[in-house]
Amino acid sequence: NSLKIIDEMESLLVSNRLDSEVQIVKTGCFGLCAEGPIVVVYPEGAMYTRVEISDVKEIVEEHLLKGRIVKRLLAGEKEADDISKSLEGVDFFNRQMRIALRNCGRINPEDINEYIAFDGYKALEKVLTEMTPEAVIDTMKKSGLRGRGGGGFPTGVKWEFAAKQTADQKYVCCNADEGDPGAFMDRSVLEGDPHSVIEAMSIAGFAIGATQGFIYVRAEYPIAVKRLQLAIDEAKEYGILGDNVLGTGHKFNLEIRLGAGAFVCGEETALMTSIEGHRGEPRPRPPFPAVKGLWEKPTILNNVETYANVPVIILKGAEWFSGIGTEKSKGTKVFALGGKINNTGLVEVPMGTTLREVVYDIGGGIPNGKKFKAAQTGGPSGGCIPASHLDTPIDYDSLIALGSMMGSGGLIVMDEDNCMVDIAKFFLEFTVDESCGKCPPCRIGTKRMLEILERITEGKGEAGDIEKLELLAKNIKASALCGLGQTAPNPILSTLKYFRDEYEAHVFDKK
Ligand code: SF4
Repeated sequence: NSLKIIDEMESLLVSNRLDSEVQIVKTGCFGLCAEGPIVVVYPEGAMYTRVEISDVKEIVEEHLLKGRIVKRLLAGEKEADDISKSLEGVDFFNRQMRIALRNCGRINPEDINEYIAFDGYKALEKVLTEMTPEAVIDTMKKSGLRGRGGGGFPTGVKWEFAAKQTADQKYVCCNADEGDPGAFMDRSVLEGDPHSVIEAMSIAGFAIGATQGFIYVRAEYPIAVKRLQLAIDEAKEYGILGDNVLGTGHKFNLEIRLGAGAFVCGEETALMTSIEGHRGEPRPRPPFPAVKGLWEKPTILNNVETYANVPVIILKGAEWFSGIGTEKSKGTKVFALGGKINNTGLVEVPMGTTLREVVYDIGGGIPNGKKFKAAQTGGPSGGCIPASHLDTPIDYDSLIALGSMMGSGGLIVMDEDNCMVDIAKFFLEFTVDESCGKCPPCRIGTKRMLEILERITEGKGEAGDIEKLELLAKNIKASALCGLGQTAPNPILSTLKYFRDEYEAHVFDKK
């Protein structure tokens, strides 16, 4: 629909002789998915939501020709007279702090000049002309940035490990193989601001002494792949990638590798095995990739959102970044809000924001006046958080303490109608499908857990099934080879912890 709206707008600009005065800029996602398609008219910043093709004529004739805001289409306060700050007037954006998503919905991702106009590649220039690799790593460490892909490992420490290795070749990788059901944070950054990832990877290359980077992106993201390739080509043309970056002698090249849809390839060692051209299966660690990664050379791997933070940290400083968030979780986190929530979409909030604020103040609450029952964070690797913990500040450690995890940022909301045993089964079906089969606890154990869950949900559960399920879950967690298997039992363990009565109702009341 958005493309048709653009076509209609273009033709109406021509017929109203506005085409030389008004420029149409195609941007990435604003994050407010529930209200799309969105058109923002500048300089007023009036944000029109749920725009239909039939609305375009009114926007052109009223707003562009006569300077009159079309109030019925405005996001936020539709009755306000002065919409000069329309974007800031929208609750959905008001409570957010956009660092990783700073340019999404603001710039044309297919034009490097727009990225440059918003301080793009300034951080890279600063690093190459004013800083040493040690100073870059020190800044990253002091910022407190932790991996946004799920692990939460301190980024600067990871870079330092790789920097300390002596090798004839090192690599910088980006994990853009976003596979969690309901997660689309990385996709949005790649589609809306691909240069931020390229800039950060080049900075990382300088910091650890790597000259080659790979972005492993899932092939199911065709727009992200296209825009990323365009951005890489533009960066080469502008002397930002290549053998003499910005004329400083720094060498850094970047290539895309396509993932073929296997969830396990989001695991770092499996991802590297896949880039090397083999079947994507995890390898035991140690050795860790920072010591022996791609082709046994020191390699760092960070995810898209982690990289998107890096240029801003370099420009604004470690202190600024570490001043945001909680004691052990600095900065912001992007969440993909989905499920039973009014404002489905992407939000970026400071670490420590409570689940209640995210669900009610930003997410607009639960549709149809239903009650909040739980939220699943961390996708299939995470767990369910019940209503009694709605006021928990969201950060890495508090989520783990609740039996869930941050994961990459999927946040699926359940209301009073959801059966939590079904939810656990849904996520387990996913991990059973995606198990690579290399180690028995995951290959066989998750299948056995699913069989028990199927029995229970079909009303055929027997006394002892719940205990068997719990024991299996704990053993698989402790013995699986990689993160996929180790976290696969989380949805079961967390729902058993908070909603055991629902399991018991299935088994004993045959519900
Ligand atoms: Fe493969 Fe699962 Fe074992 Fe990971 S835990 S290596 S996905 S079988």
